[in-house]
Amino acid sequence: MKDYKIEINLTSKKKKKPQFDQLEFGKYFTDHMFIMDYTEGKGWHDPRIVPYQPITLDPAAIVFHYGQTVFEGLKAYLTKNEEILLFRPDQNMKRLNQSNARLCIPQIDEDLALYALKQLITIDRDWIPTLEGTSLYIRPFIIATEPYLGVSSSKNYQFIIILSPVGAYYKEGFNPVKIAVESEYVRAVAGGTGNAKTAGNYASSLKAQEEASKAGYSQVLWLDGKENKYIEEVGSMNIFFKINGEVITPALNGSILEGVTRNSVIQLLRHWNVPVVERRISIHEIHQAYNNGLLEEAFGTGTAAVISPIGEFFWQNEKLVINNGETGPLSKKLFDSLTGIQNGTKPDPFGWVVKV
Ligand SMILES: *Cc1c(COP(=O)(O)O)cnc(C)c1O
Repeated sequence: MKDYKIEINLTSKKKKKPQFDQLEFGKYFTDHMFIMDYTEGKGWHDPRIVPYQPITLDPAAIVFHYGQTVFEGLKAYLTKNEEILLFRPDQNMKRLNQSNARLCIPQIDEDLALYALKQLITIDRDWIPTLEGTSLYIRPFIIATEPYLGVSSSKNYQFIIILSPVGAYYKEGFNPVKIAVESEYVRAVAGGTGNAKTAGNYASSLKAQEEASKAGYSQVLWLDGKENKYIEEVGSMNIFFKINGEVITPALNGSILEGVTRNSVIQLLRHWNVPVVERRISIHEIHQAYNNGLLEEAFGTGTAAVISPIGEFFWQNEKLVINNGETGPLSKKLFDSLTGIQNGTKPDPFGWVVKV
């Protein structure tokens, strides 16, 4: 790896750390952050690590008005031997550039971004929690900073990385969640930005999420935006079903975000010789499999929860209860295997883990 020149300005006033047994998600931030600027004609420049601080932007900055922004999410773990591990971080940097391409944001140097990330984590390594299930969540993002109200892509950007110690996702055990099938709102459509990790997709998902929460469901199941019947994702996770021994996940179709966890689950299943297919699957097919007693398991996949078992779908006034509302054996095995690889307690046959 090249030796990139990153200016480092350490804080003179370290923050008081939160209680590491009382962390939530994305509530606390470490002592430092990474920033790099982009200026038209000059390219990306001035990569630097500085004390964590507010940023100042012109109120006309394009990101505030037209949402030209992308982000990523990944985690670092501290092993018993005090090694810091990242899980497939190259995939996140690659996807950041794919999102950039869709949002007309200039490409970043993926190696530089990874190098900067490692530097930043090393500086803030005291912030990596070690209790079971906890980790350091990493949020790289890019914002359009040019002050301009005309609708066009920005001439200036900032690429920032912040870090947040996060608690165990499953504090009260690895329990299945209830999901409402969403038939009114859609998350994304083919040709839109569903396959890019960009803020607008999240803004447009809030309404459905809020209504589902009020009705007692933890997430919504998103159907396709055209025919309103093919399954896309669950909340902000990819989704898998196990039907009659075969694992099925919706094929990437332009409106589904290609998760690193999704890809890792597919590779693990193939490694175990569990049949797995990527194809279009409708909510009607799920209903039929359920009626025939063949719907064995369902689970979401994503960096935050890794595997999120689903115990119930609510669709057209009917409750489809999966595996008696309990976590299925495959969901459990995937969770144990993936988290074990990620935190260094299990062998890593795919070479996914990267030491900082
Ligand atoms: C980030 C994200 C995922 C999960 O991706 P991972 O790389 O597995 O964390 C799935 N769906 C959406 C909409 C996402 O934004």
